[in-house]
Amino acid sequence: MLCKSMMRIFSTNHLLSNWFSNAMLQNRAVTPLKNNLHATSILMGIAALPLVATPVRALEVQINPQKPLLGDTISVIMNLDNSTRSSNVTVTSGKDTYPAYEIAPNKYRAFIPTTPLEKPGGRTIKIDAGGESKNIPIQVGSRKFTVQRINLPPGKAGVSATKYELQRATEFRAVRSPEKLWSSTFLKPSQARMSTPYGVRRYYNGKFANDYYHRGLDFAGGNGSPVVAPAAGRVVLVGTVSQGFRVHGNVIGVDHGQGVASIFMHLSKILVKEGDIVKPGQLIGKIGATGASTGPHLHWGLYVNGKSINPMPWLNVSVE
Ligand SMILES: [Zn+2]
Repeated sequence: MLCKSMMRIFSTNHLLSNWFSNAMLQNRAVTPLKNNLHATSILMGIAALPLVATPVRALEVQINPQKPLLGDTISVIMNLDNSTRSSNVTVTSGKDTYPAYEIAPNKYRAFIPTTPLEKPGGRTIKIDAGGESKNIPIQVGSRKFTVQRINLPPGKAGVSATKYELQRATEFRAVRSPEKLWSSTFLKPSQARMSTPYGVRRYYNGKFANDYYHRGLDFAGGNGSPVVAPAAGRVVLVGTVSQGFRVHGNVIGVDHGQGVASIFMHLSKILVKEGDIVKPGQLIGKIGATGASTGPHLHWGLYVNGKSINPMPWLNVSVE
């Protein structure tokens, strides 16, 4: 769950100097200062008092969830002190840098996606904000993903994607738009029974597929049953079998903003066009069996910063 537990790390940098300058502003008796000696004696006098005031927090960080499991979206929320001049915020972990967006005055948020292809264990989140740096250690727990064994007859390796299809899919995953379009928990895009969960791993003819995991949720709806937008967004991809979408089938991609995007595959009908703004719950298409699909179903993939994450928490918790 994304918002249940929070880890707070408070900065003590400049605590005394900030406290001192605050005290100075509130105490007319100490002004005007005549020389450095005078200032030093006041500082020592104040420092000798018990520190009962709330410490000034220049950079406060919350990590949700506190104990993420593979597939979770890690949310890094950073509250900067009002007096912080620099608003250059960067969040890195390992080799990757994650975009931080201002979601309220002096409040920033970055998403770190995790997937079943990664190793569980310790990582460090490095934050640079308002001239301060923090290294926050986190533990990413393992999760048991269902394993399927698929046997394909010789010479039947399945359908392969066209070059155009791959190119459009890559472009879809690369979309980063600064405006946050979603506003609460996501809706299920189909009311049908969920048939395949997120993250399923596969063996093909006895050989483990290292790069494969089920990148979304499947809904076993009948042909023609409704598909609705799970959240507000902008349609950035509409593709059809006739254009070469051999694997995806008829497909819609919706950008929810700030690196979050949905894909809907195997549709029988598409009811939107690229550039359309959709509302949560709006009918956008109909379930089908187009592309690499053995029967009618909806595949819904939710991407965060280009990686397919587990959509389930987004259905249960409103992500800031
Ligand atoms: Zn699927």
